[in-house]
Amino acid sequence: MSGTLYLVPTPIGNLGDLSRRIVETLEQVDFIAAEDTRVSVKILNHLEIKKPMVSYYRHNTETSGPAIVRRLLDGESCALVTDAGTPAISDPGEELVALCAREEIPVVAIPGPCALITALAVSGLPTGRFTFEGFLAMNKKNRKSHLESLKKENRTMIFYEAPHKLLSTLEDFEETFGADRRISLCRELTKLHEEVRRTTLGEAVLWYRDNSPKGEFVLVVEGAEEEQQEEISLEEAVEKVLRLREEGMSMKDAAKKVAKETGLPKNELYHQALDR
Ligand code: SAM
Repeated sequence: MSGTLYLVPTPIGNLGDLSRRIVETLEQVDFIAAEDTRVSVKILNHLEIKKPMVSYYRHNTETSGPAIVRRLLDGESCALVTDAGTPAISDPGEELVALCAREEIPVVAIPGPCALITALAVSGLPTGRFTFEGFLAMNKKNRKSHLESLKKENRTMIFYEAPHKLLSTLEDFEETFGADRRISLCRELTKLHEEVRRTTLGEAVLWYRDNSPKGEFVLVVEGAEEEQQEEISLEEAVEKVLRLREEGMSMKDAAKKVAKETGLPKNELYHQALDR
């Protein structure tokens, strides 16, 4: 029988966030796969746990992944840890989970510290619907097309960013979403200098032009306002299509326009208007 891969989160700053289940899992597994063994050994020393470790990081996933899978298939259990937070979230792990899923190896995710959820919860922005966008690409073209694709995004958007790239990212946000869009800059979460700056993109750009950013950031950006749709009956909407037609618009364009304004089906409006 194969062993289990455990995805074990580690603190994003505060060692007090090591839960009992996290500790027990690290104690029980046969070996630990770590993004950086030098970082993880500090946590293991703190917990007085000694375990064999292998490294599993961005640039060795192709060799290390199959080696870990072989050991799991042989019946060993493994805890995957990264430098901080939840493995597989903007961190190595995604490919390993996919490999295990393909081999039908059980994967258990232990809930725990994750910067994006901590930031969203404290942001003061709507949490009902959100989208996690990770890090923006360095490459200008990819970065621009990523941002363009979010222009009309209504959901709250969450980004990770390094301090040295923060200002240029805020400037790009301002250009894409406008200066008045609200943002919560969540810095050094769970650490001594934790700070949440709830402001607008315009104000954030001005602030960080004068104050160089330090520490780790999650950026939580308000979504675009929903386009208001008129609430009218199908009958009234058809009347509207016919009025636009009388004013010279084609029936097809009129149905399309009214459908967009009301959310009613375009084809239905078109055919009902034709039948009048
Ligand atoms: N897997 C991790 C998680 O679950 O959050 C994220 C890893 S990603 C490589 C690192 C990024 O997470 C940082 O660049 C920063 O944007 C964010 N981050 C991590 N710790 C943070 C903290 N204490 N405060 C604010 N942001 C943090």
